[in-house]
Amino acid sequence: MRATEATRIYFDAAADQLDLSASMRRLLLTAKREVKVQIPIERDSGEIATFIGYRVQHNDARGPLKGGLRYHPQVDLDEVRGLAALMTWKTAVVDIPYGGAKGGVAVDPAACSTRELERITRRFVDAIHDLFGPDVDIPAPDMGTSADEMAWIMNQYGKYHGFSPACVTGKPVDYHGIPGREEATGRGVGALTLKLLGRLGHRIPGTRVAIQGFGNVGTHAAKFLHDAECRVVAVGDASASFYRAEGLDVLETLRHARERGGRLAGFTGGDSITAAELLAADCDVLIPAALGGVLTTANAAAVKAPIIIEAANAPVEPDADAIFADRGVLVLPDILANAGGVTASWFEWVQNRQHYQWGINRVRQELDRILGEAFEQVWRLAQSRQVSLRVAAYMLGVGRVARATVLGGVA
Ligand code: NAD
Repeated sequence: MRATEATRIYFDAAADQLDLSASMRRLLLTAKREVKVQIPIERDSGEIATFIGYRVQHNDARGPLKGGLRYHPQVDLDEVRGLAALMTWKTAVVDIPYGGAKGGVAVDPAACSTRELERITRRFVDAIHDLFGPDVDIPAPDMGTSADEMAWIMNQYGKYHGFSPACVTGKPVDYHGIPGREEATGRGVGALTLKLLGRLGHRIPGTRVAIQGFGNVGTHAAKFLHDAECRVVAVGDASASFYRAEGLDVLETLRHARERGGRLAGFTGGDSITAAELLAADCDVLIPAALGGVLTTANAAAVKAPIIIEAANAPVEPDADAIFADRGVLVLPDILANAGGVTASWFEWVQNRQHYQWGINRVRQELDRILGEAFEQVWRLAQSRQVSLRVAAYMLGVGRVARATVLGGVA
């Protein structure tokens, strides 16, 4: 299913509950601006390579546009459009003063050298520097990008507009980033998992967790849940997946991946399983933290976990979501589950603008508070309206954006 179609289905369910007019729906679903640019670079070999970059600025009714930048070979306009809308609802669910945007470059970062990635990033900024900035649109890392790309973005943007650290978030800590940003999405996933388990009356120590994706989000979620005494029984990435019923040695998996450029392949502390087996692993909580669209009608029936935490963006397709609802599998939706990253990005932006630095404890404290409040609001709405956590989260997000749109005035 196309990404925009998937987010549209959830939007419609919330809009029905909110009784939004057809004209308001059309306004909220239409992106403010979409750009597609050519990114030519010189390869290390001297050859010319041309990539395509996208930025979709969906909605800024509640504040400057905010959203990650993804480097992946399958990036296309439809995917970026769907993810940009998700950002609009996400920033509204956690009630931070931003709108939603997303960007991407159709490139396989694993097939590029660091210098080539730097050239791609700088050329992309050359192409769109007039369209983003601290009060306009603030990119951040996403799949395939890291703090390095954000540093290059800040530096290249500064060549046009002067010193502007707040033009991008997720920067290296020693280059205007903040401690706690890198871990924030995974930490938030972990903290919200504990909140949900608590609400359901589950005992946390010993809870069996399976995690697909062992990059930024997956590793930090694994570490947080391990520290909370959960049992991480399965982890997997693009290179391999592993299972151990007694629980994997999480610190060992992290060390293994760190020493091998982030890849799990070759790990010997668990049984090797397939990617499909990981999603169907015998566990209490399944955390897809890699790609979108991994849980579909083809594999939803095989999922054994009674709880799914959407750490990735859009990992559960709408048809699979309906199957999970029928089976009583509880899904904590992406627009809440992975909102820790954008929330900490907001902290970074605030500090950059004030030229001031908080300590890590303050970052964690504020993050836990904001996510905790959003969770309670979504939980209560789901209970009172007898809707899924996803529909409740969309109702909260879409409702806030609709109100800001009316307050700001359309004409
Ligand atoms: P990342 O690039 O750091 O890691 C991605 C991981 O997914 C890697 O371990 C990779 O090997 C794995 N992977 C890729 N293809 C796979 C496949 N076919 N099967 C199994 N594993 C596969 O990315 P990330 O920043 O951790 O982002 C992961 C997801 O979380 C994405 O959907 C992203 O949009 C979402 N997200 C990230 C952030 C953030 O702050 N980084 C914030 C919100 C949402």
